[in-house]
Amino acid sequence: MPRGQEAMLTNEYANPTPPDLPVPSDHCTSPDIPTSTTDTETYDISDHPEEECAIFGIYAPGEDAARMTYFGLHALQHRGQQAAGIAISDGKEDVYAYKDKGLVNQVFSESTLKSLEGHIAIGHTRYSAGSPGDSWETAQPHLFAVGDETIGLANNGTFLNTDEVRAKLIERGIEFRTETASEVAAKLIGNITCETNHMREGIREAMQLINGAYCMVLLTQTSLYAFRDPSGFRPLCIGELPEGRGWVVASESCGLDIVGASFVREVEPGEIIRINEEGLISEQAVPARDRAFCIFEYVYIARPDSTIDGLNVYDARERMGRRIAEECPTEADIVIGVPDSGVPSAVGYARASGIPYSDGIVKNRYVGRTFIQPTQALRQLGVRLKLNPLTSIIKDKRLVVVDDSIVRGTTSKQLIQMLRDAGAKEVHMRITSPPVVWPCFYGVDIKTQDQLISATHSIEQVAEAIGADSLAYISLEGLVDCCRTDRSGFCTACFSGEYPLHVPENIQQTSFCGSLKPCFRDNM
Ligand code: SF4
Repeated sequence: MPRGQEAMLTNEYANPTPPDLPVPSDHCTSPDIPTSTTDTETYDISDHPEEECAIFGIYAPGEDAARMTYFGLHALQHRGQQAAGIAISDGKEDVYAYKDKGLVNQVFSESTLKSLEGHIAIGHTRYSAGSPGDSWETAQPHLFAVGDETIGLANNGTFLNTDEVRAKLIERGIEFRTETASEVAAKLIGNITCETNHMREGIREAMQLINGAYCMVLLTQTSLYAFRDPSGFRPLCIGELPEGRGWVVASESCGLDIVGASFVREVEPGEIIRINEEGLISEQAVPARDRAFCIFEYVYIARPDSTIDGLNVYDARERMGRRIAEECPTEADIVIGVPDSGVPSAVGYARASGIPYSDGIVKNRYVGRTFIQPTQALRQLGVRLKLNPLTSIIKDKRLVVVDDSIVRGTTSKQLIQMLRDAGAKEVHMRITSPPVVWPCFYGVDIKTQDQLISATHSIEQVAEAIGADSLAYISLEGLVDCCRTDRSGFCTACFSGEYPLHVPENIQQTSFCGSLKPCFRDNM
């Protein structure tokens, strides 16, 4: 078997030793809202929160695990578009991997997939969320050595104590190639496993030491492991292939559907799953904390055809639209949704209000996901690179426009101008999340409060800044009601300032700028 690119790193990795709005303060400046993107901005013109990654794992004797992982990653591509990778084992030889920067279909070719032989595999798509490094080395899965064995690890997560854990490992003589939390997790698990000679002990102890929001899959020569942080911030589910052909784990249930696996259950917060020839075993490795599932998964991040904790994401968004129609009615001729996540909510708004729904904006699905940089002239088009209005629908109409969130306000301003240019008479924005006032430290790319228009502007000021005739947000209570399930317990920190996990002082100092103080549920 020809080795993939990551496999060449194996020896280098080997280490056998093993709200109320806060009042702006002096250092919290109001962000200007540009009318177009500039040279200094990345090509991703999105003004929405971005997620870090997706993970996928499969144990299926007799199946082409690499090919199934490829399709699983395709289904999960929306969670990360910067890099993709697969690690694989056939149960007899070593663990091999192939990874690179780019989309899943840019990274893998038919011949690459054919070279990745085996029935146990893990996969990853990466969004760096501003974390250090956007290089080939930071793509996952990471391979690392535990004694004589090679292990693969893929992580969807963010740690709050990465520096502390890394420093302890460096003291033990362990070297690092990247600044990423994922490498820290890999080396930590490897180091403890070497000392205890027990993989599950290595994972268990690492889960006790790492403070953060994460889901991970890990591959040894013979087994697949999956585990989730004790608060359950990110989704992770288990599926079974028909006729007992094997097991699948995926960040979202749409990753199970694409390979024909049926949903079995969620991986529980604090749980480790191991799957090998003995079957699936589960262990509650660390006690679960109060559940803190990221409510933004329902609002924006997850795919609408995924079901999380028994609630379909499309249905949750449709409910949000109904709720905001009840909370914030307005007179208009048609309701339109901003693709993709605003569309089910617009349908809900229309059903609850009696105002007709219409498709009003078409999304160019592929342009934001190319690595070819547009010219400056094309950049000036801003949102039009991704979204195009249906002029014949919009012209001379009073619009209700339903969108999922406003972060910096840049996209909303361009969008409204685009709709006015297409002839809209009035534009009434309805947002299916409350104002984003606080940064996120748990894996979504909202790093500092001064990036957030709602941290420094009242709702009326935001409406004026983006050029809306009216602007209203769903209430936090309304949003939580729309996402409620038997198991629910949410992180709502970016709206409420109530953080489920303590954030280190040094991060707090550079992230908050208002006079109101955040509140930490587990103050340490
Ligand atoms: S602060 Fe909480 S709710 Fe907001 S994006 Fe982060 S994890 Fe999700």
